[in-house]
Amino acid sequence: MVGRGLLAARVAFALAVVAVSWTSLLPPADLPPTLGLSDKALHLIGYAVLGALAVLSGLRWSWALVAVVGLGFVLELAQGALGYRSFEWRDLAADALGASAGVLLTWRIVEEVRQRRSVRAQEAKRQRRRERRQRARNPQPERPMNPARAAARKGPPTWQVVGQRQGTKCWLCGRRTHEDDRQRQPNGTYRLGATYPTVVYVTPIDRGGSYELDNARVAHRHCAALRESDVGRREYGTPKRTYG
Ligand SMILES: [Zn+2]
Repeated sequence: MVGRGLLAARVAFALAVVAVSWTSLLPPADLPPTLGLSDKALHLIGYAVLGALAVLSGLRWSWALVAVVGLGFVLELAQGALGYRSFEWRDLAADALGASAGVLLTWRIVEEVRQRRSVRAQEAKRQRRRERRQRARNPQPERPMNPARAAARKGPPTWQVVGQRQGTKCWLCGRRTHEDDRQRQPNGTYRLGATYPTVVYVTPIDRGGSYELDNARVAHRHCAALRESDVGRREYGTPKRTYG
């Protein structure tokens, strides 16, 4: 994947190569007007632009120089072969001078930008590391919080928390809950049984009840399921009492 800027530079470089080649191979009579610039000045400017675009296209300065001066040399050879134009060492010297100026100046700018960018990236990285170390050194002190408020803020409380306040008997059927009614699975989690305790809400959450401990009770999992859903009814049979 090539960035949009790089792609634009490559397209511009290709167009510039075509334009320079084209004008170099035209018969002298067909050349476009030069705006009063001398032949050597045109060579200088054209090849400086080529050099700059070569660097912006992603070439290293050395390769950019070889490519652009090589193009100038090939075009001079072609001019010598054409008959109506001629091979001129002075033109080639102007090409090389222009190319060097364009390539080296652009290379310096590109390097400068690249360096500044990497310095900024490193600075950001250091800053992140510093913040991480700071957090590790003084972690947020844990503030004791009123359990009810903590429950209200955090969402559903555990049955252990509710049990401390409300007792661990099943609020729905009045019998004991069994916290050993669970089986350890090979993957380390527990499969909870029907009489294992869970939390139910006096006013159900979906009817606007809150997670506050005043609204929470401990119940058997199967009693809670019966109260909540038809699926629970099917799985555990018909409830002996209705609750609500
Ligand atoms: Zn129960």
